[in-house]
Amino acid sequence: MDATPENDVPTSDIGKNLEYVKASIDLAASRARRRSNSVNLVAISKTQKAERIRSALLAGHKVFGENRVQEASEKWLDLRTESPDAILHLIGPLQTNKVKRAVELFDVIQTIDRPKLARSLAREIERTGKVVDCFIQINSGEEAQKAGVLPTDADAFISLCRDELKLPIVGLMCIPPRGDVPGLHFGLVAELARRNGITGLSMGMSGDYEEAVRFGATHVRIGTAIFGARPITKGPDGH
Ligand SMILES: *Cc1c(COP(=O)(O)O)cnc(C)c1O
Repeated sequence: MDATPENDVPTSDIGKNLEYVKASIDLAASRARRRSNSVNLVAISKTQKAERIRSALLAGHKVFGENRVQEASEKWLDLRTESPDAILHLIGPLQTNKVKRAVELFDVIQTIDRPKLARSLAREIERTGKVVDCFIQINSGEEAQKAGVLPTDADAFISLCRDELKLPIVGLMCIPPRGDVPGLHFGLVAELARRNGITGLSMGMSGDYEEAVRFGATHVRIGTAIFGARPITKGPDGH
């Protein structure tokens, strides 16, 4: 067994956990009268070693999320070569000085949350011609320490990104405050998306993804339920 106190799930169980999570998503989707393939499972592999990610890839899973550009660059160097069809989402805060590397590495950037970042991304996408799907992060709980656009600023920011900067905005993303009823946040973000004609909704993590699917999530971001508990991390988005 290669489980350690930091990761309580042995590598050999990762494929089985993926199956379980997928089945739960399918069930939640069918209960919500949604098609099961309308929900994308993004396996959150932050802090996980390459060999553990490799076992998810070997189990046939292709879509992953990382929260740090530097960590992802290092880990995915070989994994990308081995699995060229893997799809990588950035789900953590992005600094403008890392935009170039992020556009190179990621297929989807979920955390666009301020004009300076949006402008810098738009320039880099234009310059490289790389196709990068973009999500706008909404700070639905209006938490001072958390990234994301405030709900009251969302319409204007979406318009800036989409109409002025021509960013390919495909969805909205949120991380509800711990301890809050997540459905309130999922409902709010779903409504912001609906009234702006945006179809993608990245919401739901290990503890609340079935609820998120009920509220229309098109992308659920699941780490712990697949890979096991992570070492304690600090920071608002370090869940
Ligand atoms: C870590 C993280 C997740 C995954 O959380 P789990 O509870 O482990 O499923 C999802 N979204 C974001 C933004 C994260 O940082």
